[in-house]
Amino acid sequence: MANKKFEEYNIQVTDDVKNRYKNIIIDLGEDISRDGLEKTPERAAKAMQFLTQGYHQDPVEILKSAMFKESYNEMVIVKDIELYSLCEHHILPFFGKAHIAYIPNGYIVGLSKLPRIVDVFARRLQVQERLTEQILDCINDTLKPQGVAVVIEAAHMCMMMRGVQKQNSVTTTSGFRGQFEKIETRNEFLKLIGK
Ligand SMILES: [Zn+2]
Repeated sequence: MANKKFEEYNIQVTDDVKNRYKNIIIDLGEDISRDGLEKTPERAAKAMQFLTQGYHQDPVEILKSAMFKESYNEMVIVKDIELYSLCEHHILPFFGKAHIAYIPNGYIVGLSKLPRIVDVFARRLQVQERLTEQILDCINDTLKPQGVAVVIEAAHMCMMMRGVQKQNSVTTTSGFRGQFEKIETRNEFLKLIGK
């Protein structure tokens, strides 16, 4: 994952967020003039813009840019897609893996595009449930396959670091459309991803 070049950061937004971070750090009880914190507000402002860049990206365009007419009509699976997102309730990370499958209906999509649309939706303030649905609907509406399935397994820092401290719990969400609503197809997919 390449970092964005400095020129790509919105200078106005960086400045606004930087100044707010400064105040947040002071409010939390830190000494903002400490050496190690000198560049922290600006770094944090840029990090947050990077982690929420999905608001400015169009997942439909990404899929459409690599759709190819093809008669292959068996299940296509991309599993273990790394996923990093931010929970919208605490603005803390949740991270894990996404597994995506679809059954083509005349068109296939470049395989690298599936991880890319995961990133586009993950790099926003999210809940895991909606993230799952958005990936599912985007593929279903754009590629119009015979079926699509998405499973996400993620650990949530807001659970792990805060009061609950269920440190090894993993949240699983899933969604199925078309052919995957049939139990046999769904089971074949779940077996192939090792569930
Ligand atoms: Zn949370």
